[in-house]
Amino acid sequence: MGSTRRFMRFWHTTVCLPCPFCGNFGDIAVDKGAGKQQTYNEACESCAQTRVIHLDMTIDAGGGVRVWVERAEATPS
Ligand SMILES: [Zn+2]
Repeated sequence: MGSTRRFMRFWHTTVCLPCPFCGNFGDIAVDKGAGKQQTYNEACESCAQTRVIHLDMTIDAGGGVRVWVERAEATPS
């Protein structure tokens, strides 16, 4: 009956995820036009540690995007 599904239609958005280092939530930009699977580094605004952002749009056939954050491989000094 309802047509609440149009809620899913977005192209540029941000998701709010906790930093794997400091736990502070921050907005991570999702650019759906930049590829179905993306991996890129981004520095946390709170602790300045490098995080790896993963985007995967191939998992959800309904057009949803899976986003998760990992700690970048630290090079021990
Ligand atoms: Zn952080």
